[in-house]
Amino acid sequence: MVKPCAICHSLAFQSQTCENCGVRIHLPCAAKFFKNNTDPRCPSCKDYWPHEIPVFQSQTLSQSASSRASTAPASTASRTRRK
Ligand SMILES: [Zn+2]
Ligand SMILES: [Zn+2]
Repeated sequence: MVKPCAICHSLAFQSQTCENCGVRIHLPCAAKFFKNNTDPRCPSCKDYWPHEIPVFQSQTLSQSASSRASTAPASTASRTRRK
């Protein structure tokens, strides 16, 4: 039996589960829901969320950035020391 995601309410397969109330949240939903949240808590029982918050990667952004980088000359590799 698969519970629906507490955020988007569709079936949550790749998800994190609250160990207290059993609520499930998709990894990408958790990434968005807990984004910039230093004290992540379950949306249902407000208990501390014990899981590592996944980093949501915007694929459209990274793809356009990587396609741009791939067209750049290889000499830019020597200039990647900026932090
Ligand atoms: Zn979801
Ligand atoms: Zn909970």
